[in-house]
Amino acid sequence: METYDAIVIGAGHNGLVCAAYLLKAGYSVLLLEKRSVPGGAATTEEVMPNEAPGFKFNLCAIDHEFIFMGPVIEELELDKYGLEYLWCDPSVFCPHPDGKYFLAHKSLEKTCAEIARYSKRDAQKYREFINFWSHLMGAITPMFNAAPQHFLEIATKYNYERLYDVFATIGSRKKVFDFVRTLVTSPEDLLNEWFDTEIVKAPLARLAAEIGAPPSQKGTTSGLMMLAMRHNQGIARPRGGTGALTDALVKLVKSKGGVILTEQMVKEVIVDDRVAVGVRVAGGKEYRANKGVISNIDAQRLFLELVEPAALDSADPELRNRIERRIVNNNETILKIDCALSEVPRFEAYHHRDEYLIGTVLIADSMQQVEEAHTLANMGQIPDSNPSMYLDVPTVLDPSMAPEGKHTMWIEFFAPYQIAGAEGTGLQGTGWTDELKNKVADRVIDKLADYAPNIKNSIIARRVESPAELGERLGAYKGNYYHLDMTLDQMIFLRPLPEIANYKTPIKGLYLTGAGTHPGGSISGIPGRNCAKVFLRSQKSFLGML
Ligand SMILES: Cc1cc2nc3c(=O)[nH]c(=O)nc-3n(C[C@H](O)[C@H](O)[C@H](O)COP(=O)(O)OP(=O)(O)OC[C@H]3O[C@@H](n4cnc5c(N)ncnc54)[C@H](O)[C@@H]3O)c2cc1C
Repeated sequence: METYDAIVIGAGHNGLVCAAYLLKAGYSVLLLEKRSVPGGAATTEEVMPNEAPGFKFNLCAIDHEFIFMGPVIEELELDKYGLEYLWCDPSVFCPHPDGKYFLAHKSLEKTCAEIARYSKRDAQKYREFINFWSHLMGAITPMFNAAPQHFLEIATKYNYERLYDVFATIGSRKKVFDFVRTLVTSPEDLLNEWFDTEIVKAPLARLAAEIGAPPSQKGTTSGLMMLAMRHNQGIARPRGGTGALTDALVKLVKSKGGVILTEQMVKEVIVDDRVAVGVRVAGGKEYRANKGVISNIDAQRLFLELVEPAALDSADPELRNRIERRIVNNNETILKIDCALSEVPRFEAYHHRDEYLIGTVLIADSMQQVEEAHTLANMGQIPDSNPSMYLDVPTVLDPSMAPEGKHTMWIEFFAPYQIAGAEGTGLQGTGWTDELKNKVADRVIDKLADYAPNIKNSIIARRVESPAELGERLGAYKGNYYHLDMTLDQMIFLRPLPEIANYKTPIKGLYLTGAGTHPGGSISGIPGRNCAKVFLRSQKSFLGML
């Protein structure tokens, strides 16, 4: 039987990052991936080889921000394995129905000057708002890069600059109370408190809602730091697409002797006397791990599908019930549209400039529209009567992703996983069919055409993936690409549950990483790195006790 020091279930980017750190420390590692390619929600694939040969699509993640909050790229020297980032500046273009538009540059000053064309007050408030969130980001960065309950390690990461950020955020009695209020209120309430104009509120609300919740939801204001991130470290894309990050990690893992086996669906974690000793894959083959099994899939999938109930119950009799009932996955996920284009969408009524397409284009007419996009999806309704969307035309920044002179377009449209009233029909009983997903995609493109009238004639080929298909591809419950919701009650030392928030589980040698662990979903590699550190520490018995 093949034996490794560690086995990683799933080769998403976090599983790969975790494996890379273990390999660098001298451990042997096997990654088992259910799909035919590694990367999970971080792949770039030529998915329409017949209709659109040579066009490469980011099937999920495209815009990278969080990865720059941690040291993964530098520590793993990913540039040596071919990773190169292209920076997006401007970073956001949001046209409004009345002919106005929001354009965020990397420079805060330039962005404020754009806003001042419509409201001098909002321009000034925007500067203060971004400064607040920038300090808050600085203040919490040390917490991101350590196990969330490892207080000693977190404390040592606070240098002068980070302490200054803490002081700027909560350095007086009033600031502390305001800070608490800011965390527990909703993005909508906070934006109404700060700003007058929709031209600022709507794009901020739309980006905040990327967390997977409507702007009215209390406790989700952390999403409002998205624009501050774009002004600070910036937003970038790997040359060649998000898959280039995965490719670099795969090269690194293989160069260190790591083994990645694809089309290997893990069916069971083998537990012997409360210790994880290996896994069994579909078809029955077993692999042994003598130091640990690490799960890149979340606690619900791991414990409810892959671990024998008796094995978990004997380690912690209460955990099964808590995992089943306390961890929350709402009903909102993504209907994804990828198009091969003969030319870029042109925003003629907004004095089109190709620079609008370097970063993200948001169709967010108002906070109300963003609210409906999420609330309806949560309730099982498709918010397609007036679609809001997030789209990118990555080939403007990186022409290597399409044949010469041609382009690709990436559209993310929030949609319900389970359609209300359609239970038991369509794919996986969700109500989604090919006909329905294409009808919804047509409406999304119709809406975009209100702004960029040339779009319909420029589509060479299109691929639409319904929420049910996305869920099936990723293997995530309800297509949740963050593995579990990113609300305050499931973050930091509560993610996924307090007793398993430090990447360890009650089953000895069984570790958790991935988007379902601290600090959560998105492209960051931080859960992978943090988990690797905990694993390595556990190998040294004294420190492992900490
Ligand atoms: C449409 C879309 C757009 C997005 N856009 C962005 C973006 O622009 N920027 C950003 O930062 N984030 C974005 N995200 C979120 C981000 O992609 C994910 O949060 C992140 O990639 C999760 O990485 P992970 O490694 O933790 O998990 P995953 O990528 O989910 O990896 C888990 C891996 O485990 C495999 N697996 C599952 N079950 C098994 C099993 N039983 N046996 C073996 N293997 C298994 C899966 O196939 C997968 O490869 C987007 C997500 C989606 C869906």
